[in-house]
Amino acid sequence: PVQSHSVIKKICCIGAGYVASTFTSPTSPPSCPKNPDVEVTIVDLSERRIQAWQSDDLPIHEPDLLEVVQSARDAIIEGRKPNLFFSTNVDQAIKEADCIFVSVNTPTKTIGRGQGRQSEMSYVEAAIRKIAEVAEDDKIIVEKSTVPVRTAERMREILAANCRPGVSFEILSNPEFLAEGTAIKNLLTPDRIIIGSLNTAAGLSAAESLVDIYATWVPRNRIITMNLWSSELAKLAANCILAQRISSINALSAICEVTGADIAEVSYACGLDSRIGPKMLGASVGFGGSCLKKDILSLAYIAESLHLPQVADYWRSINDINEYQKDRFSRRIVECLHHSLTNKRIAILGFAFKKDTGDVRESAAISIVNDLVSEGGSIAIYDPKAPDENIWYELESTSPDIKLLHERVTIYRSAHEACVGAHAVVIVTEWDEFSNKTKAKPLPAVDATTPPRTPLATVAPQEGYIESKETKPVAGRVD
Ligand code: NAD
Repeated sequence: PVQSHSVIKKICCIGAGYVASTFTSPTSPPSCPKNPDVEVTIVDLSERRIQAWQSDDLPIHEPDLLEVVQSARDAIIEGRKPNLFFSTNVDQAIKEADCIFVSVNTPTKTIGRGQGRQSEMSYVEAAIRKIAEVAEDDKIIVEKSTVPVRTAERMREILAANCRPGVSFEILSNPEFLAEGTAIKNLLTPDRIIIGSLNTAAGLSAAESLVDIYATWVPRNRIITMNLWSSELAKLAANCILAQRISSINALSAICEVTGADIAEVSYACGLDSRIGPKMLGASVGFGGSCLKKDILSLAYIAESLHLPQVADYWRSINDINEYQKDRFSRRIVECLHHSLTNKRIAILGFAFKKDTGDVRESAAISIVNDLVSEGGSIAIYDPKAPDENIWYELESTSPDIKLLHERVTIYRSAHEACVGAHAVVIVTEWDEFSNKTKAKPLPAVDATTPPRTPLATVAPQEGYIESKETKPVAGRVD
């Protein structure tokens, strides 16, 4: 049992990216009036990102995020104490904070050996070195970034070798489980908050301090404390299991397409099993986003380093199916257009990796557009939120022929403009504005008193499809 623990008053979040959005609310009214005394400063090396956070044109698109940030900004006008700050002064924010969250990027390394790929830990290391260099008193450091299991051990070594005499650090793991597109909802009503610590008096005490922060708006039974290594691994595990479900249903969709079975019906039938459940069972063009692929590669790499090749193979195969699904999707488009895209225009509706986000990292649209350009098609892209510069960045960094890419691809401001004169319309992202009036109803709750089946037409999800002038719609939806 922990006898006493310190009260966290000043939080610094290093890294002002997507995950930083989860720091915009808990300490700022109206979502957390009980915690007005806690101050949060979100810092980043990128001046441009910080300026964007300080403007009405936030660097990321998330439903309700602007309202939450504006509410914090209105504090002074409304006579409240301001408690949310954005800054590039990393040193000062570290010095002043008693709790520092490390929320920097951990992308996949571009080089490496073996089947897995290590996560690039240089940003985490730089942040830790900076903390060691400037901290003048004891700090709690929280791993918020998704990191390989036992990263805290490396952090401790770096801190011990570089910190000022007499300064000590306690490291906690508090992985972020937000899903882009629902970040604020996930923040306010999380499924669970995981806090990992060492099983020492200092570790447990630091964990309790963090529990107190969350407990001001999250029910206590949803705040789970555990061993530090379990917490680090739990985040990777959760993402890999989510990806595994998507790849499982997509692998089944390939069988459906050649047997006459309907993947929506198969998915519905499976989802009614209470042990399986209906979520994340929609067949799609494949998963995207900055996390799933990277975390699978990272887990496969960890398994390889631990001399567990079969385990590494198992996790890696989930990514292989995802690549296969994207490739299959491009091939189906070409097939639907009589195996030739020459002089044909294809509208791509949606470029973000899923709806309600502008994030295009690892989006299935990237490989589809590149494939269609190589096949000779002209591509007209429209996405409601994805910034043009990010679309170009992703396409250019993966294109085998950038000159050809620019000749063949145009980004439009509306779905209508993109579709004018198109031989095929491909809905890659399930944005609501692309859905029609017959939008699928949610699956009914399974309970013994309701009839086991509803008419299939009302439950089969058909939100995304390729519609060619000559062919039937083909199922394919982005999760
Ligand atoms: P991001 O790329 O959007 O943002 C990271 C930010 O960190 C960048 O703005 C970068 O400039 C900044 N940064 C890097 N090094 C820095 C340093 N030394 N000092 C100050 N700033 C620095 O990344 P993200 O999507 O927010 O993800 C961050 C971490 O959280 C990753 O490990 C990711 O796997 C994990 N995560 C992401 C999500 C998500 O949905 N995006 C969800 C859960 C977990």
